[in-house]
Amino acid sequence: MEISGIQKFTTLDYPEHTACIVFTPGCNFRCGYCHNPEFVLPEKIKELQHSFIEEESFFSFLTKRVGLLDGVVISGGEPTLMPDLLGFMKKVKDMGFLVKLDTNGNRPQVIQKAIEKGLVDYIAMDVKTSFKKYGELVGKFAVPEKIKESIERIKKSGVAYEFRSTLIQETHSQEVLEDMAEMMRGSEKLYLQTFRPGTTLNPLFQTFHAFADSDMEGMKNMFSQSVHNVFIR
Ligand code: SF4
Repeated sequence: MEISGIQKFTTLDYPEHTACIVFTPGCNFRCGYCHNPEFVLPEKIKELQHSFIEEESFFSFLTKRVGLLDGVVISGGEPTLMPDLLGFMKKVKDMGFLVKLDTNGNRPQVIQKAIEKGLVDYIAMDVKTSFKKYGELVGKFAVPEKIKESIERIKKSGVAYEFRSTLIQETHSQEVLEDMAEMMRGSEKLYLQTFRPGTTLNPLFQTFHAFADSDMEGMKNMFSQSVHNVFIR
């Protein structure tokens, strides 16, 4: 599997576990607020390809972490685009590590296979906006029906999961937020993420704004009517 980078240690990215993170290059979305355009845009990826990490090097690193780390987070970009993702997950599982998958949810068939084969222990899926607004926010390759399918499959999977949504004043109107709450009705866990301006894939988003803390609290209350556990981060 192509690996664009690794983070050797994290206590923040896998709930209640220590882990390392593997990043895969490339994404089928173009979220205007994406903070990692260098691992999303093909022309930028090409420039960085020389610094990619061989799978063999990663596994020799991981061998040294047996008994020291609980899990491996596979993040992106969008990992489900990697043709050999499931084989990679199996190798990690066979070494005794937990596997967390970060995904944008646009490839439910891959998520489902990982669930069926028992290759994933935790799924974090972005729910970025209402179904109506998906294309507008993340680009033409987003398929709302597939996002919907992923939400439903993950909810029914029996695998621990979270949904997460980055909220931006200019793109998340009250109507959008209400639609999103409906999309995730009955879900277990949702993290509302405060937008951080800075490097963004679309420069226009550098002029956009995070919601005030008090607004985020209000939204947390609203989402709590349809999702069991809602947190702000
Ligand atoms: S899905 Fe994630 S990696 Fe892909 S463009 Fe959006 S924020 Fe960036």
